[in-house]
Amino acid sequence: MMLTHEKVWTKCLKTIAEHVTPQAYKTWFEPVKPIGLNNDSLLIRVPNKFFFEWLEQHYIDLLKLAISKELGPKGRLEYQIFVENHRDIKGNTIEAMRKKGEALHASQKAGIDPALKDFMFSSELKPEYTFENFIVGTCNKLARNAGIAIAKNPGKTAFNPLIIHGGVGLGKTHLAHAIGNETLKNFPDKRVLYTNTERFTNQIVQALKNNVMYDFIHYYQLIDLLIIDDIQFLDGRKKTQEIFFNIFNYLHQYDKQIIITSDRAPKDLEGIQDRLISRFKWGLTTDLQVPDVETRIAILEAKMNQKGVEMSHDVIDLISQNIKSSIRELEGVLVSLIATSALTEHEIDLNLTNQVIESFVNHIQKEITVENIQKLVADYFSIPVEDLRKKSRKREVVVARQLSMYFAKEFTSESLKNIGEFFAKDHSTVLYSHKAVRDMMDTDTGFKDIVEKLKRQVEFSLNSN
Ligand code: ADP
Ligand code: MG
Repeated sequence: MMLTHEKVWTKCLKTIAEHVTPQAYKTWFEPVKPIGLNNDSLLIRVPNKFFFEWLEQHYIDLLKLAISKELGPKGRLEYQIFVENHRDIKGNTIEAMRKKGEALHASQKAGIDPALKDFMFSSELKPEYTFENFIVGTCNKLARNAGIAIAKNPGKTAFNPLIIHGGVGLGKTHLAHAIGNETLKNFPDKRVLYTNTERFTNQIVQALKNNVMYDFIHYYQLIDLLIIDDIQFLDGRKKTQEIFFNIFNYLHQYDKQIIITSDRAPKDLEGIQDRLISRFKWGLTTDLQVPDVETRIAILEAKMNQKGVEMSHDVIDLISQNIKSSIRELEGVLVSLIATSALTEHEIDLNLTNQVIESFVNHIQKEITVENIQKLVADYFSIPVEDLRKKSRKREVVVARQLSMYFAKEFTSESLKNIGEFFAKDHSTVLYSHKAVRDMMDTDTGFKDIVEKLKRQVEFSLNSN
């Protein structure tokens, strides 16, 4: 009797069914299609690369057993990865993977194929954020040391997850990237991924829309070190929390490292399920504090050297005495000072420094409000502000509303939920509008000009009110 690929695979499935749960069988083996038989080798098609990875990681022995039962000890399995063009998630990393997946469209041999194993995994890390240029002081020493320990031994220290919290501009993002970069330096083969809660949420929205949630979750399950920045934005996002919870549990169970940053301590996080918060306590929670004066001076000196400028001790002292609450502000003053000095052809002395500090302090103390933005945008479109809260579908009202939401998200520190309330909408509408504006800017230069123009007005009102 002729052996056909269908018959061989049907028999393999019988063996497999005896060894796995019905759920696993349904999830991982039913979608596999046999497509060819070539002597000792059965060619199967899997729906995507996650599938391939998953089978390789979890069922390789079982597959070998089943195949050798049907085809003898020389029996082999080859994979083909099926790629559908419309299966397209717009998140950067997934997009990059999809492209790579297409390149890998050729059949892949079973066993660990090096070409596939080290597929391009875009870490999204910023190379400029390293430990080398992270200045240490008492304010950040503990967090930094924990980070160094993790980079030597990701997933295997007691610091899993590592929660880094602290106010704006104190170095959370920098430190998180530094740990990622250092880990890659120590272990070039590890899969490190940096993402933030915003991007993560957007990817989930897309994955749900495109019906590729499995792919999404499996993608994250392959990561060795996951960094997720600004977790406070999970506030009220139930679906994202649920999915993050699953990914978290999976990674933690397999000793994969998780690093989370937050603008407040876990106990103060709002709108996040308790079960998730309690997971955060499994590892180390550490905070970044406001830098003391020595650290502020050290940071200024380091940044000054990086930028290749010279400043007197008096100038450095003056800045460090006045700018106390954030490293980002310290940097900001330094940059403004250099720019102002170049523009006015005035040397950096105490006088100029005083002026810059003054304008800077005023600048940052002014907060632009959602109401201001609404008014500005409504004026621009010559519509009444109230219309932004109404359910109007008139084109200019819709655009004005989306733009206002976009600016509110860009320029205020309000949560998405709060922004939504100014428009009688929920947070997902804000997120959607923000994205819609960005997409339109990408495709429509006329629209982009309008946005830029309004943006300057918003910024101007920020400086002048
Ligand atoms: P956060 O994420 O806490 O808001 P960031 O990590 O974005 O803060 O840091 C703000 C800026 O300050 C970045 O440009 C970063 O490089 C710089 N910075 C923060 N901490 C340090 C540090 N310890 N040494 C040098 N630069 C720092
Ligand atoms: Mg940050």
